[in-house]
Amino acid sequence: MPRVVTVPCLSDNYAYLVVDEATGAAAVVDPSEAGPVLAAARREGVGLGAIWCTHHHFDHVGGNEELAAAVPGLRIYGHASDWGRIPGQTEALDHGGAFPLGTEEVRALHVPGHTLGAVAYWVGGVVFTGDTLFHGGCGRLFEGTPEAMHRSLSGVLGALPGSTRVYCGHEYTVANLRFARTVEPGNPAVEIRLAECAALAARGQATVGATLGVERRTNPFLRTSSPEVRAFVGLGPDAPDAEVLGALRRAKDGFRG
Ligand code: ZN
Ligand code: FE
Repeated sequence: MPRVVTVPCLSDNYAYLVVDEATGAAAVVDPSEAGPVLAAARREGVGLGAIWCTHHHFDHVGGNEELAAAVPGLRIYGHASDWGRIPGQTEALDHGGAFPLGTEEVRALHVPGHTLGAVAYWVGGVVFTGDTLFHGGCGRLFEGTPEAMHRSLSGVLGALPGSTRVYCGHEYTVANLRFARTVEPGNPAVEIRLAECAALAARGQATVGATLGVERRTNPFLRTSSPEVRAFVGLGPDAPDAEVLGALRRAKDGFRG
């Protein structure tokens, strides 16, 4: 499992340094800005070889060009369909595309929904999900359909082992879990996780790195088959999961917890 160093950027974004301890090879996921990433790399004593972009939004790629100028030969990965939208992109990925980080193999997972070219990066039991899967929630459907997002969350990411650690693009966890509690007031796992994350947030600590297993128990967007989730959006047992997800996402858009 690579070492993951959380790098807070902008107001609530996270970039991540991913370090293969065996070789010292390092990459950065979603550098919103270059300054904090370069400082973290210096502090950790690692040399950056690559940027892994989860999608083209500016708060995830804002530091690309400055990093490329500072680090000669830097590879910049993103989905093939994001070519021209990700500054400085040098590598075009498709679903399942693999490449190395030192001794580790990284795998790109195409997870459309938030954007059409959204990619998650899976490496050694860790997954970087950008704005597709958040702790306790999911990203807004800017470019994709509820069907695509459901497939990405429950089909693609859902196929990963429950022990997989999730690192997402924003610190939205407490707000997401407040919504989750409203959706499933009878789910004690949500209440417990909300208390844990509220305590972390109160100390200024990141809530990221929980497992997919925790998400399956607490994230309503992964729980579209739950009768309580369906009842919240007024849908019964026969409604397709994607329809439940779409209705949940609309309810979240209007939720002020
Ligand atoms: Zn985004
Ligand atoms: Fe974002």
